[in-house]
Amino acid sequence: MIAQPKASHFVDGSYLEDKAGAPIEVIYPATGEVIAVVHEATPAVVEAALASATRAQGAWAAMRPVDRARILRRAADLIRERNQDLARLETLDTGKPLQETLVADWPSGADALEYFAGLAPTVTGETIPLGRDFVYTIREALGVCVGIGAWNYPSQIACWKSAPALALGNAMVFKPSEVTPLGALKLAEIFTEAGLPAGLFNVVQGRGSVGGALVTDPRVAKVSLTGSVPTGQKVYAAAAAGVRHVTMELGGKSPILVFDDASVEDAVGAAMLGNFYSAGQVCSNGTRVFVQKGIKAAFLKRLAERSAAIVMGDPLNEATQMGPLVSASQRAKVLAYIETAKSEGATLITGGGQAGQGGCFVQPTVFADVTDGMTIAREEVFGPVMAVLDFDTEDEAIARANATEFGLAAGVFTADLTRAHRVIAALQAGTCWINAYNLTPVEAPFGGVKSSGVGRENGHAAVAHYTQVKSVYVGMGPVDAPY
Ligand code: NAD
Repeated sequence: MIAQPKASHFVDGSYLEDKAGAPIEVIYPATGEVIAVVHEATPAVVEAALASATRAQGAWAAMRPVDRARILRRAADLIRERNQDLARLETLDTGKPLQETLVADWPSGADALEYFAGLAPTVTGETIPLGRDFVYTIREALGVCVGIGAWNYPSQIACWKSAPALALGNAMVFKPSEVTPLGALKLAEIFTEAGLPAGLFNVVQGRGSVGGALVTDPRVAKVSLTGSVPTGQKVYAAAAAGVRHVTMELGGKSPILVFDDASVEDAVGAAMLGNFYSAGQVCSNGTRVFVQKGIKAAFLKRLAERSAAIVMGDPLNEATQMGPLVSASQRAKVLAYIETAKSEGATLITGGGQAGQGGCFVQPTVFADVTDGMTIAREEVFGPVMAVLDFDTEDEAIARANATEFGLAAGVFTADLTRAHRVIAALQAGTCWINAYNLTPVEAPFGGVKSSGVGRENGHAAVAHYTQVKSVYVGMGPVDAPY
């Protein structure tokens, strides 16, 4: 299987190659096959991308928002027309099954383009009366924004960052994860076909050092990163040196609280979605499932039955429900966590090891009797490994759920209306669900608190993160100077 792009980078409206950059092999994780090779951006490529973005941004910001929006809507239409091919490429890049990539990845990217295309023309300032004088405000674009992506939702991340950035008049230089470099290049192609002027969306490939070069460039006004907490700390610090705006979408160890009165079937289904979708490689996953003792036996029974029935295998077969992890190193990391959980005394309910002959497959795995101090209850595993913990009381569950450095997401399952809202109010998390889990429509703000990040993607909230306010005082009479 070959998925070689026309060139490694997309700069100033066209593909660009520079083989002087270190090669990066793109591996299809279901087979281990090398499907493409791209080259890391050299300083010359980074310079070309930033220079082109800087050149293009002013005229773009000066356009009528409806005219910018029309281009983004055209790009969304092209994505939907080509979803089948794009989903296949996403599957090759990530190993995620077609069953998911057909409905979740590019389609949610198209949603973001449509949403921000619709929203941008409604963004206005305010007028503040001061008697004779007045102040008005203008929401201006920030300028050149850098987007840096993780490998788990490469094309969705590229769209979620570029859609608000472009709709609101910014330019973007996007660096995909070195593990999944292919989708963002397709997005650049589609934008160009939709009529986006050259330079407004550039893609440069590379590892952390290329990201570092982008983040510290004086022409950059904002950095939006999706990645792990340690990377976020480095990128946030580097951006701070230039007092740049940041959005940090980082890791999590999110809790799902299942109370005795919850629907077992719904809670089990949500816990599975929140641990096994994308083979568990989802930042907002609810990887600490706190189950009240009265419902524990019924919950574990259904969870074991339904988890054992998950169809693993060839991600290109639409009947496959779970594919491999993204890479051999991710598989090794996840398998090590599973062994640690066993040695620390968690009870293995199902799964617990590698699956298949080749490829990076790990069985959907459930551990029960997990306690708060165990490694799998504290660290982000980023694989199909669910930790089930018991609890007695609401207060206890809230306190234990909050006892983590992370604060990305949280879920509550209960039939008690007032308890649902009371518990959600007490949980320290940026993105929450009641009797649902991991649904992330573009209309809803998404992001974390504590170490899980700052800023929000999606929803009206994203407007504040891709614009800045200019305040204009208008004097309507003589200047009253005491001199
Ligand atoms: P990562 O932190 O290893 O890498 C993320 C990106 O940062 C990559 O493109 C990488 O090349 C780049 N990078 C690394 N060091 C850098 C540096 N010093 N300067 C600039 N860029 C640098 O993360 P990953 O392994 O690709 O993705 C998994 C992580 O992402 C998990 O922790 C997951 O929770 C998180 N994630 C968060 C969200 C969210 O929205 N909150 C979504 C998806 C994934």
